[in-house]
Amino acid sequence: MNAPLPLKVAREAARGAYDTVASASNEVAGRLAQRLAAETTGEVLFSPADRGRYATDASIYQVMPVGVFVPRSTEHARIALDICRDLKVPIVPRGGGTSQCGQTVGAGLVIDFSKHVRGVLEVDAAARTVTVEPGIVLDHLNAQLKKSGLWYPVDVSTAAQATLGGMAGNNSCGSRSIAYGTMVHNVLGAQAWTSDGQLHTFGRFEDATGSARAMGERVRALAAALAPEIDAHWPKVLRRVGGYNLDVFRNQNEKPYTRDGSVNLAHLLVGSEGTLALMKSLTLQLSELPRAKVLGVVNFPTFYKAMDSAQHIVKLGSDGTLTAVELVDRTMIELSLQNPAFAPTVRSALIGEPDAVLLVEFAGADRTALLHKLRQLEELMGDLGLPHSVVLMPDEGPQKNLWEVRKAGLNIMMSLKGDGKPVSFIEDCAVPLQNLAEYTDALTQVFRKHGTRGTWYAHASVGTLHVRPILDMRRNGAPEMRAIAEEASALVRKYKGAYSGEHGDGLCRGEWIRWQFGPKIDQAFREIKQLFDPLGLLSPQRIVDPPRMDDTRLMRFPPAYRVIPLQPALDWSAWDVQNDPATERTTAPGTGGDPAGGFAKAVEMCNNNGHCRKFDAGTMCPSYRVTRDEQHLTRGRANTLRLALSGQLGPDGLASEAVRDALELCVSCKGCKRDCPTGVDMARMKIEFLAADRRKNGWSFKDRLIARLPEYAGTASRFAGLLNLRNRSGLLAALGEKLLGFSARRSLPEWQSAHFFNSGVRGASREEVLAAAKPVVLFVDTFNGYFESMNAQAAFEVLQAAGYTVHVASKAKPDGRHLCCGRTYLASGMVDEAKAKARELLDALLPFAERGIAVVGLEPSCLLSLRDEMTAMGFGAPAQVLARQSLLFEEFLAREAQAGKLDALRAQLKPLDQPLLVHGHCHQKAFGAVTPVLDVLKLIPGAQPQLIESSCCGMAGSFGYEAKHHAVSMQMAELSLLPAVRNAPDAVVVADGTSCRHQIHDGAQRPALHAAVVLARQL
Ligand SMILES: Cc1cc2nc3c(=O)[nH]c(=O)nc-3n(C[C@H](O)[C@H](O)[C@H](O)COP(=O)(O)OP(=O)(O)OC[C@H]3O[C@@H](n4cnc5c(N)ncnc54)[C@H](O)[C@@H]3O)c2cc1C
Ligand code: SF4
Ligand code: SF4
Repeated sequence: MNAPLPLKVAREAARGAYDTVASASNEVAGRLAQRLAAETTGEVLFSPADRGRYATDASIYQVMPVGVFVPRSTEHARIALDICRDLKVPIVPRGGGTSQCGQTVGAGLVIDFSKHVRGVLEVDAAARTVTVEPGIVLDHLNAQLKKSGLWYPVDVSTAAQATLGGMAGNNSCGSRSIAYGTMVHNVLGAQAWTSDGQLHTFGRFEDATGSARAMGERVRALAAALAPEIDAHWPKVLRRVGGYNLDVFRNQNEKPYTRDGSVNLAHLLVGSEGTLALMKSLTLQLSELPRAKVLGVVNFPTFYKAMDSAQHIVKLGSDGTLTAVELVDRTMIELSLQNPAFAPTVRSALIGEPDAVLLVEFAGADRTALLHKLRQLEELMGDLGLPHSVVLMPDEGPQKNLWEVRKAGLNIMMSLKGDGKPVSFIEDCAVPLQNLAEYTDALTQVFRKHGTRGTWYAHASVGTLHVRPILDMRRNGAPEMRAIAEEASALVRKYKGAYSGEHGDGLCRGEWIRWQFGPKIDQAFREIKQLFDPLGLLSPQRIVDPPRMDDTRLMRFPPAYRVIPLQPALDWSAWDVQNDPATERTTAPGTGGDPAGGFAKAVEMCNNNGHCRKFDAGTMCPSYRVTRDEQHLTRGRANTLRLALSGQLGPDGLASEAVRDALELCVSCKGCKRDCPTGVDMARMKIEFLAADRRKNGWSFKDRLIARLPEYAGTASRFAGLLNLRNRSGLLAALGEKLLGFSARRSLPEWQSAHFFNSGVRGASREEVLAAAKPVVLFVDTFNGYFESMNAQAAFEVLQAAGYTVHVASKAKPDGRHLCCGRTYLASGMVDEAKAKARELLDALLPFAERGIAVVGLEPSCLLSLRDEMTAMGFGAPAQVLARQSLLFEEFLAREAQAGKLDALRAQLKPLDQPLLVHGHCHQKAFGAVTPVLDVLKLIPGAQPQLIESSCCGMAGSFGYEAKHHAVSMQMAELSLLPAVRNAPDAVVVADGTSCRHQIHDGAQRPALHAAVVLARQL
């Protein structure tokens, strides 16, 4: 290892390095990468795409790092620190990268703690403490703590992806901070390296020794010297996260930082945003999980009244049971009411048409006492002139639904199409509650003056209301943002608030620190930085010496941002729009000025919030769940596409190798289409990439074999016996892997010489079904027609048994071939061929759809492409007509059952006493079509189907059959699906997807049945 440089030289060099190292010194970057690779086994990611994926967080900023390092252990992090010090390369520590102010973007080496450095080191349930590594995600920690009845209560909205290191870095705050405080109130200690490589243990000041003690002494002296300044300038609110916590030695917070009034030096690191030390571990104070929760929803005639009442409502919490007072404004209410899934829940919480509601939650051990609090709330509202304004929700079910609605409302807001976006830069100013009404009113006027508006929501309990004015950062957004920020800051000052009350400083608010605290305290912050990081190595130019918030050179969409013109294969015009910031109305599709026909704007919908890093229920994102790689994450993919489409990854644009690598493990499950708050649909984007890539590089034999399956299936089925030999001969399987890349460890779908299409089942003619009283059209796809014809046969029987006149869909101009949706072509990027197939299907089915006759299909990925991709193929209104009538078999039956049309079928079904275990296909989940499967199975007397909480099965069309994907495919299946199947040995496993059935068969050696077969068996 090289000898360290003298301190002064190193400091100067590091400071200069920050701005120049990325561009000027390839040599430094090269040496850095080389040494990281030689001295650790961590992941060294220095490609332009890797750096680009770590150049952004959930803010508006983008700064290319020199490189990215993913340590496998804390020891690797220490070594990286030493190397960076030697080479004078700054360090930007990172957790989930969900910061909203640009805390994790910087030109140094980004160290990502989230992948490997995420252990729980020690739990002391009796003392209610836990020690963790910084990369652990809050939800994952709380899942582990649940069995001991404890939790870490700083419940940030990003709990599913935020790491404890990142939360400490930002001094994050949860919805229930009124009861539990913020991070600083719940951290007991930290082990951390300062940039000179020393490891310190930060904890109680009175117990501190050595250099930690010395640093503490110095900060204490600063606080003492600046006592009058601190008293005069420090915001006296719970939610103040700007600057360093100099006030640990002179508490200004509404809630003391420690329970016993002692000083804890770890609190200096909390909120320091990676600028003081690199955290190795954190010791946290846990709380008891509340045994009961009750909710009162207070309806207000005016927004002002809601804001004015918050100060009185919080007084009900003097006994510690008040855990949240959350605002939902009229816009949010209306957005939620537009969503049919949420409307009933929202209506159940409303009295008339309130302008705003406050969700008031009480939690604790004694349910009776909590119910009494609800009565007190009702009385209080009566006293405040609003009798009968509270909807009581004493039960957890409705409460959970309502919290979900509150979250979804934000998601709808964030999914606004067009270049104007709700921008977070003053969304967490905190003001004392007595000023909340005046402040929000005045800020609304500011928005109006600037031709925009804000939707208000969140933490009324602590005076921190989220609001994001809509700004177009590519055009005049930066000066607008600055102007609004300046006016907002004047209001914050007037109302004695904190400018940075939740999301931290970063690039966005650093320059307001001096404004907030005054020059003397700002100078003290500089001294603290100097004390901890004399080399200026850790996230330099943050908190101290920050850049201007509106420096467009640091932005993701600077004025020079351009998209490479591109003719997309699919229709993306719905995204090619602009919006009006005041009304949020969007212009007509195709008018947004996107040279990529809307594709680029669809990609740019990703705002980096990181929700795709979650591991909870839902599908998104299976490839991330097994790899934990930013590259194999929806966000990483969207960033790669954005960089490629805007020429930031070189001239190859969309067809570049970096895009291919990023999309390699995307299984096109559409989990993101459903779960991503802004609706990023990577499956559809992958089609666009495949089309561009294969146009440039050509299609392989395997691509053609997969794509043209529907063409040759009829002929091939005549040689079923011969072709199936591949599944019985190891030699043939090995040969298949060598020549075609299909894994020898897999069986391939079995060909059938007797299949549905030659079975003689014809069903009713076109004329008969058009004239029938109970008509239905059955669309039999390639897979259920040729490989698993029993499913098609079963569906036909069930529909007939239910009294329907069933027409089996056939070509308008018969040519001896079956109809096909084009799915296999899409999966291979042959979009023109897919369109030709889809066109035939549309021509054949439109006459029925136009008459309102349902078109029913069995394979989710085939049938649902009629509702999805087919509407983006340029077929206009007819495709929409067909989409509206296209239903999965169970969706159709569930609809008919609800209309009372299946009584005859129900009467015919024999009881079933075996357990039923249901796995939903990803596309079924994406289209909310899993519940109908359960509903329809419940038609069978005695059936109690259980849904497996699974992500993607991992097979995903041809993905899992490919040798290069076999391992990842099996890992995806092992996440939850296969263990659930194994744990229920007696159950009948139900899976509608052909690949899912195959994966279950391969992985658990159990048959899985289409729901149609389960129903048919009971006839
Ligand atoms: C939609 C949305 C909702 C949000 N809701 C909330 C909310 O309810 N409450 C809230 O407080 N915030 C919220 N945030 C902001 C953000 O999610 C939180 O601040 C979160 O705690 C950050 O966690 P992270 O793991 O992503 O940290 P990162 O963004 O990766 O890092 C945060 C800071 O910590 C530093 N850091 C990370 N690891 C280390 C380490 N080992 N050593 C030293 N420094 C380190 C980083 O350098 C950075 O300065 C929200 C963000 C979004 C996008
Ligand atoms: S893909 Fe969606 S969920 Fe993931 S970061 Fe982007 S916007 Fe968030
Ligand atoms: S389609 Fe599935 S695998 Fe691909 S990015 Fe979306 S969630 Fe991830």
